[in-house]
Amino acid sequence: MAKYHCGKCGIALNKNNWAPSRKKEKKFICKRCDNQRRKDGRVKLKSEIIAAYGGECVCCTCDIPEFLAIDHIDGTGAKHRRTLSKNKGNVPSNVFYSWLKKEGFPKDNFQLLCFNCNFAKHICGICPHQFKK
Ligand SMILES: [Zn+2]
Ligand SMILES: [Zn+2]
Ligand SMILES: [Zn+2]
Repeated sequence: MAKYHCGKCGIALNKNNWAPSRKKEKKFICKRCDNQRRKDGRVKLKSEIIAAYGGECVCCTCDIPEFLAIDHIDGTGAKHRRTLSKNKGNVPSNVFYSWLKKEGFPKDNFQLLCFNCNFAKHICGICPHQFKK
């Protein structure tokens, strides 16, 4: 009989389904629930970021969270992200978002753009939406 159970879903824990990072801390949580918890955390962080930066694309006012991301106004995103990473590699967005939160959501060089506008800005230098104005 299993000795340990996931505190969330109640599944019996064994070495295959016990979230490895949690096992060390003696936290009774299975891999699936641990992943879900992390995912919830990321979604929550991202919605905080989006709300803090006005809730919509500054270019086309698209407000679908899945399409929105923080853009470095001066185009130094990749470089900046590397400075946040210990091994100078690319960092996941949530590391970048946590940094923004810690810094109090700085607005000087950051804005909210949707994927379309972000992509267009990087390819053309300016989003076509701006020509229409
Ligand atoms: Zn579970
Ligand atoms: Zn847009
Ligand atoms: Zn645009």
